[in-house]
Amino acid sequence: MKRKFLVVLLAVLATFCMAFGFAACGEKSDETGNNPSITDPSGTQGNQGSQGGTQKPDDSEQGGEQKPDDSEQGDTPAPHVHSFGEWKVETPATHLKEGVERQYCECGEYQEQSIPKLTEHTYGDWQEVESATHLTEGVERQYCECGEYQEQSIPKLTEHTYGDWQEVEPATHLTEGVERQYCECGEYNEKSIPKVEGHSFGEWKVTKESTCKEAGTKERSCACGEKETEALPLMGHDFEDMICKGCGIQASLGLEYTLINGDKEYKISGIGNCTDTDLIITNNYQGKPVTGIGSSAFYGCNGLTSVTIPDSVTSIGESAFV
Ligand SMILES: [Zn+2]
Ligand SMILES: [Zn+2]
Ligand SMILES: [Zn+2]
Ligand SMILES: [Zn+2]
Ligand SMILES: [Zn+2]
Repeated sequence: MKRKFLVVLLAVLATFCMAFGFAACGEKSDETGNNPSITDPSGTQGNQGSQGGTQKPDDSEQGGEQKPDDSEQGDTPAPHVHSFGEWKVETPATHLKEGVERQYCECGEYQEQSIPKLTEHTYGDWQEVESATHLTEGVERQYCECGEYQEQSIPKLTEHTYGDWQEVEPATHLTEGVERQYCECGEYNEKSIPKVEGHSFGEWKVTKESTCKEAGTKERSCACGEKETEALPLMGHDFEDMICKGCGIQASLGLEYTLINGDKEYKISGIGNCTDTDLIITNNYQGKPVTGIGSSAFYGCNGLTSVTIPDSVTSIGESAFV
């Protein structure tokens, strides 16, 4: 608040001074006003800024270019009158926005005016929307910034356009394979896939089933006729009343059995009174599967030379044999 008041006061004072000045020295002002510009060049060349109030308004309007002029020409400091050149487009008008054009004076000053919006759409470059193939035409558009667009078709291609290569027939080590690349019209290019090195065998097929006495066989073959044969593992014995149904062999008798898993299965828990040196363990006992051999079941049975364990056994305890 105080500041504002001060500023107003100063302004009032200033206007008073000017008014008095005019009234007091109406005639003198002409003389003193002209004096500096006449005496100036001969007397002090560069110190214009410090001389008299009359010069100042000129300076501030016309800027720096005035000073060198004054010092060179001296007597007739002609005030600069802008001379503006041709109108030049600064921002071109579109049909949504006005443009801007300017005309410059060599002093840097310029005048500006707007260019009215265009009454017509202004379209950009053509852009491909859909590419042409050799069966269908493509589409391209050029957009105006308002969203309007013009559309034209791209002519069909005169040549086939082929896709990726696809395997039609695989290569073997006897025959080459075939691959093709198709054009959408149905035309295609074809080339061969080189033969594969080495036999290419098919799936294994069982040629003879295994029994508990004899191993079966399986076989696989290559297109050239080459065959591979492998033996199948023996089937385990399947006992009924401790006698194998397949080969008639007898399971070891006198072993210790213990019910496990909720009394649904048996495990061998000890040698019992069995004296066999070649142990043959049954896969079932009293109508229930034998699924385990307990820990230390045959521990210390040094006389054993072999143990035949059925497939039904899925767990063998610690130190069962040694
Ligand atoms: Zn100018
Ligand atoms: Zn438009
Ligand atoms: Zn084609
Ligand atoms: Zn082969
Ligand atoms: Zn058997």
